[in-house]
Amino acid sequence: MPEGPSLRVFHGRSRRLLGAVVQRAGGRTRQLDVRQLEGRQLQQSQVHGKCLFLGFGRGPRSGFTTDPESVSPTGSSVPVSAGGSGISGNPTPNLWLRFHFGLFGSVRCDEFARAKRANKRGDWQDPSPRLVLYFPGDRFLVFYNCRLCVCGDPRLDPHTDVLSREFDKAKALCALQHAQPVCYTLLCQHHFSGLGNIIKNEVLYLSGIHPMSLGSQLSAEKLCTLLEHVLLFSKEWLDNKQKGIGLKYHIYQKDQCPRGHAVKRAELGPPHGLQRSTWWCPVCQPAEHDAPSRPLD
Ligand SMILES: [Zn+2]
Repeated sequence: MPEGPSLRVFHGRSRRLLGAVVQRAGGRTRQLDVRQLEGRQLQQSQVHGKCLFLGFGRGPRSGFTTDPESVSPTGSSVPVSAGGSGISGNPTPNLWLRFHFGLFGSVRCDEFARAKRANKRGDWQDPSPRLVLYFPGDRFLVFYNCRLCVCGDPRLDPHTDVLSREFDKAKALCALQHAQPVCYTLLCQHHFSGLGNIIKNEVLYLSGIHPMSLGSQLSAEKLCTLLEHVLLFSKEWLDNKQKGIGLKYHIYQKDQCPRGHAVKRAELGPPHGLQRSTWWCPVCQPAEHDAPSRPLD
């Protein structure tokens, strides 16, 4: 599922239509009667971790005002903060939608996703949107592969969002020190909102830490290094996304690590919890009792 950096990009796209009134709504979602969105103004877009929140209110039935920051076609002007953005002077939205994206979930602005390959029957069938919001001037927002629901006012905690300037490092370090494998703690959205499986695998490799190392057995220095990699990697991924540069993995889905060692893979997760594919290099990321820590080049 998309991780924090992707959500920021989706947020940037939805912001381009802030102030516009939904003329028509479509899509194949059954989680919502989409007609209730028609005639409402898109007033707010907020992002927290892996969730996107859109706020709608009763707006003017015509007219179109855009947020000055939202006009960039690349979304590059979207600030890195967990806060939302809205229209100054407008009333508080009276209808909020929360979006949670599945694997390959996305938001597009003024374009539909096209089939990248033929299906098993040989048909080139374009992905089917869950929700499409049509605005004046042939503008539209399309939402793919997501769960959506009406929710109350989002209560966001920027202190836990790995892409927020207000991220609370001290609190995060305490969480990492728990006597459980660090690869479980990293995926806990209460402490590391927006951090997903790709970031988990990559930062553990970059820190030279075995995924099953207990946080309580790692030195404070190692945990600080891990935390710095979490923040840096997430930020760089977002910056690259906004420039249209793809991410090159060090370890995720790799057979060999960058130093040429064979990579191991296992499904790891808390008992009775979600097991997630984990890749690690047994040489660069030795278990704590296997070998002394080594500097990573
Ligand atoms: Zn290696």
